[in-house]
Amino acid sequence: MAELLAALRQAVGQPNVLTRATHGDLSAWENDWRKRWPGHARAVVRPGNTEEVAAVVKACTQHGVALVPQGGNTGLVGGSGPDGTGTQVVLSLQRMHRVRGLDAANATLTVEAGCVLQAVQQAARDAGFLFPLSLAAEGSCTIGGNLATNAGGTQVLRFGNARDLCLGIEAVTASGEVVNLLSGLRKDNTGYDLRNLLVGSEGTLGIITAATLKLFPLPAAQLTAWVAVPSMAAAVSLLGTAQRLLGPALTGFEVMNAFSLSLVARHMPQLTQPLAAHADPWRVLLEVQDVESEAHAQARLEAVFEVAMANGCASDAAVAQSVAQSRHFWHLRESIPLAQAEEGTNIKHDISLPVSAIPAFVEATDAALAQAIEGVRLVNFGHLGDGNLHYNVQAPPGVSAAEFLAAQEAVANAIVYQAVAQHGGSISAEHGVGWLKRDELPHYKDATALAWMRQIKRALDPANLLNPGRVLRTD
Ligand code: FAD
Ligand code: ZN
Repeated sequence: MAELLAALRQAVGQPNVLTRATHGDLSAWENDWRKRWPGHARAVVRPGNTEEVAAVVKACTQHGVALVPQGGNTGLVGGSGPDGTGTQVVLSLQRMHRVRGLDAANATLTVEAGCVLQAVQQAARDAGFLFPLSLAAEGSCTIGGNLATNAGGTQVLRFGNARDLCLGIEAVTASGEVVNLLSGLRKDNTGYDLRNLLVGSEGTLGIITAATLKLFPLPAAQLTAWVAVPSMAAAVSLLGTAQRLLGPALTGFEVMNAFSLSLVARHMPQLTQPLAAHADPWRVLLEVQDVESEAHAQARLEAVFEVAMANGCASDAAVAQSVAQSRHFWHLRESIPLAQAEEGTNIKHDISLPVSAIPAFVEATDAALAQAIEGVRLVNFGHLGDGNLHYNVQAPPGVSAAEFLAAQEAVANAIVYQAVAQHGGSISAEHGVGWLKRDELPHYKDATALAWMRQIKRALDPANLLNPGRVLRTD
C-alpha cells in the first residue's frame, strides 16, 4: 500500500493523490449520482496529462490494483465509482480539461477527456460552430465519460450519439501504453475500428485521455414547441409527420407522460408549464433548427401543426417566443430526472425499441406492471425520435423507496425487459450497462456476441484491472 501510494505520488504529485488519511472525506468520488452504489476507494488520483495517466496505470498494474476511471460521476448505471472493498483506485480525469486545438476548415475540435461537456459546447460556439451533444447533466459530465458511455441525449435524432460525433481518440491501455488515434479524418479504413471499440466500453478496455470531435455550422434559427398529444400512438404519428415535412431540420423530439410532469410541478412549483390545463395525457417537445431564418422555420413548423391537428395526432401547441422561453421548455423536460429523484429512488429502465413498436410496448407493459404492483406509478419520458424511453417505475404513494426497491426491483425488471425483448428492443439505450445491468445482459444479448466481448476484455486487460466487474462479470 505504502509503495503504491509513493509510486502514485511520484506520478502525479503529492496533492493529487487523495486518501482518507490525507484528505478526509472522499464521498464525492465514492458515491454515484443516484446514491445507489456507495463505495470505498483506496485513493483518488488526479493526473494532469496523458503521460501522468500512463504512469498511474503502470503503477497500479505493477501492484495488481484495480482502477476505476471517473469523469463527472453523473453515470446512472453504477460504472464510475469504486466497489466496497476499499482496494480500488479512482482515476479522476477532471484536471485534464484543456482544449488542444480547433481546426476550423476541418470543422473539428480536439479536447482532453476531462473537459466538461458544456465547456466543449462553448468552445465550439466561441469559434462559430455547434457541438450538438446535449444532455441534462452537461454542466458536470465530461467528454471522456460521454464517449466511454456513448451518451445520447436530446439531439441524436439529427446528429447521432457521442460515437457519431467522435473522429479520433487518444487512450491509455491497461498496460500503461498510450494509443494515439487522434485524427480528424472522416475516412480512414486502416483496419479494425479501435476508436469505436473504446467508445461505449465504460472504462473496461482503456482510459480515454483526449478526443477529436466533429463540429457543425450554427443554425440561423431554432424553434421549440410544446405540444399536447392524446396518446403514444399519436406521438409516433406526429413524429412521422414532422420527419416527413422537416427532414434534417427536426433536431429534437421528446415525449413526456402527465405523471412525469406532475412530479416537476410538485417538486419545482416555480417552473410554469405551458398547456398545463390541457387534458391530453402526453406532451411532446419538438425542436427545429433552420439554416435560413426564423420566419422560414416558423412556416415549416406551422405546416407540421396543420397536418397534425387535422389528423388528430396533436391537440394544441405552444411555440416558444424567445430564446429564454425555449430554454424554459427544455429546462422543464430536463427537470424530470431531478424531480423523480426528489420523489424517491425509482427503478430506472433506459430502453430502446423500434419507434413503430413503442405504442404496443407501452400499452402492454403499463398494464402488466399495474397488475403486478398495485398502485405503481410510471415516469415515462424520453427521446421518442430515437426510440428511446426512460421507462421508470416509481413506488406507490406512501411506500418508501428502499422498501419498494427491495420488494419490486426484480419483478419490475423482469416485466419490462421481457417486454422489451418481445418487441425487438434493447435493455440499455444510452446509459450503458455498468453494474446495474451486467447480470441482465446474458439473458438478452446474443451469446456469441457476449463471448466475443469477453475475449476482447481478456485480450486488452488480461489482469482485469480496468473497471473490473462492470459490463461483464469477470469473477
Ligand atoms: P462518469 O459518470 O464519471 O463515468 C461513466 C462511465 O464512463 C464509467 O463507467 C466510467 O468508468 C467511464 N469513464 C468516465 N470517464 C472515462 C474516461 N476518460 N475513460 C474511460 N472511461 C471513462 N446520458 C445520456 O446518454 N443521455 C442523457 O440524456 C442523459 N441525461 C442525464 C441526466 C442526468 C440528470 C444525469 C445525472 C445523467 C444523465 N445521463 C444521460 C447519464 C450521464 O450523464 C452520461 O452517461 C454521461 O455521459 C457520463 O459522463 P461522466 O463524465 O459523468 O462519466
Ligand atoms: Zn436520456
